[in-house]
Amino acid sequence: VESNLSITVVGASGDLAKKKIFPALFALYYEDCLPENFIVFGYARTKMTNEDLRTMISETLTCRIDKRENCDDKMAQFLSRCFYHSGQYNSEEDFLKLDCKLKEKEGEKLSNRLYYLSIPPNIFVDVVRCASMKASSEKGWTRVIVEKPFGRDSESSSELTRCLKQYLTEDQIFRIDHYLGKELVENLSVLRFSNLVFEPLWSRNYIRNVQIIFSEDFGTEGRGGYFDHYGIIRDIIQNHLLQILALFAMETPVSLDAEDVRNEKVKVLRSMRPLRLEDVVVGQYKGHSKGGRSYPGYTDDSTVPSGSLTPTFAAAALFINNARWDGVPFLMKAGKALHTKRAEIRVQFRHVPGNLYKRNFGTDLDKATNELVLRVQPDEAIYLKINNKVPGLGMRLDRSDLNLLYRARYPKEIPDAYERLLLDAIEGERRLFIRSDELDAAWAIFTPLLKELENKKIAPELYPYGSRGPVGAHYLAARHNVRWGDLGSED
Ligand code: NAP
Repeated sequence: VESNLSITVVGASGDLAKKKIFPALFALYYEDCLPENFIVFGYARTKMTNEDLRTMISETLTCRIDKRENCDDKMAQFLSRCFYHSGQYNSEEDFLKLDCKLKEKEGEKLSNRLYYLSIPPNIFVDVVRCASMKASSEKGWTRVIVEKPFGRDSESSSELTRCLKQYLTEDQIFRIDHYLGKELVENLSVLRFSNLVFEPLWSRNYIRNVQIIFSEDFGTEGRGGYFDHYGIIRDIIQNHLLQILALFAMETPVSLDAEDVRNEKVKVLRSMRPLRLEDVVVGQYKGHSKGGRSYPGYTDDSTVPSGSLTPTFAAAALFINNARWDGVPFLMKAGKALHTKRAEIRVQFRHVPGNLYKRNFGTDLDKATNELVLRVQPDEAIYLKINNKVPGLGMRLDRSDLNLLYRARYPKEIPDAYERLLLDAIEGERRLFIRSDELDAAWAIFTPLLKELENKKIAPELYPYGSRGPVGAHYLAARHNVRWGDLGSED
C-alpha cells in the first residue's frame, strides 16, 4: 500500500520554522526526496489561515543556485501541500482537531507522522503528550524531532527524557544536533576510515592535540533572553562541539548502523573525566568602538539581565582517558562577537622525530608540524599543512597547504544540515541523532563545572566585541603546550 507522510511543524510561526525547517522541506521536495503523498501542517497559537502560512513561508523558500528551472511551479506545488492549524500547546482537544484535519487529508492510506518541535523547551512535554495521545499515527510510525536545549544539566535533561518517554519510545525520539548534519562533520568519518593515510595516525602516537573551534562575529543583538539562561557552554560546547569530538575520537564502529556508531560515541564520552574549573576559561564581550562605529556589550542587550555573568565565550581542555587518546588535549573554543565567523576542527600532529631539516626551520620547530584542518563553515574546506621546498637552487622550506576547497571542487550547492537531518528522520536513519545515553554522558562531563561556575559566581573575563576573545584562552592552551591554530598569521 502506498503510504502517506504528514509532517507537522509545531511552533510554525517561529523563527526556526521560517528560516530553516520550511525551506529544508521544500528543498527535499524539490530534490524528489519526499514521498509522493506528503502534507505539511504548521501548528502554533498564532491565528493564521492556510494562505497566511503559505505567504509567510514563501518568503523564505529558495531553489538551488544551479537548479532554477520550474522553481516557481515547484514552489506553488509545495505550498499547495502546506496547511495550518492554530491551537494551544497543552490542549488535547486542539490536537484532536489537528488529528481530524490530518486524517481528512491522509484518506485511507497508511500514514506516517513526523512532528518537528520548533518551540521553547518548557512546552516540549505538553506537546508530546497531546500529540501522542490524540494525533499519532494509528497504523504507521510517529516520530518526534526535538531541538536543543535538552535540559540545562544532568538532572533536568534526564527529567526531560523521563517525561518524553512516558509518551514515546526511544525509537520515536529524534534529538537533532544540526552540526551532525553538516557536510564536513559527516565527512569526518569518511576521511578517517576510508583513507589509509589518516586512520593509522589517529592516536596519541601522532596527534599532539585537537582543536574544535566555533566563532560568531555577532552578539546576541536583542535576542539574549533565551541565551542568558544557557550561556555558550550549554548552547554550543556541550552539544555541537562535543558531538564533533565524539565522532572524531571514536573507535572504528562495527558498521555504519546507527546503534553501532552511537555505541562508539557513547564510549568516548564515558571515557572523559568531568571538566574542572581549571580546565576552562570563560569570557563575556564588552562594548567596543571601532572605525567610528560602536558595538554593544553583552549586558547592553536589553533582553539580558544587568550584571549577568553568563559566558558568551568559553575555552576548555578536555581529555579522553583511553588507550588511543591518553594525554592528548582536546581543546574547544566557542564565542560570540568575535572577529570572525567560523567553525573548524584542527588536528595538530607531533614533530617529525630527528627531523633532517631541523635547521631549515630556525628555532620555531612548532611551526613545522603538520596540521589538518576541516573548515566546517563557512566556505567548507579540508586542508593539510605540509612542509615543502620552495623551488629554487637553495634549500628553503616553507609551509604550504594541500587544499581541498569545496566550492572549487564541488561547485554544486551544499545542502543545509536541516535537509539531511529531516530526510534521515523520515527514513528512520538515526545515526545523526542523539541517543538518551549519549545525552546523559555528555551532560555528565559538563554538569559539575556548570554548577561550580554558577555557585561560585565566577566572573567571565571581558573581551572587546569583535576581538579574538579573552587572553585567558591563550594561557589555557599554553598550559597544555598548545597554540591555537586559528590565530596563526596565515589563516
Ligand atoms: P521562537 O521563535 O521563540 O518560538 C517558536 C514559536 O513558539 C513561536 O512562534 C511561538 O508561537 C511559540 N512560543 C514562543 N514562546 C512561547 C512561550 N513562552 N510559550 C508558548 N509558546 C511559545 O523560537 P525559534 O527561534 O523558532 O526556535 C524554536 C526552538 O528551537 C527553540 O526551542 C530554540 O531553543 C531552538 N533552536 C532555535 C534555533 C534558531 O536558529 N532559531 C537554533 C537551534 C535551536 P505562537 O505564539 O504562535 O504559539
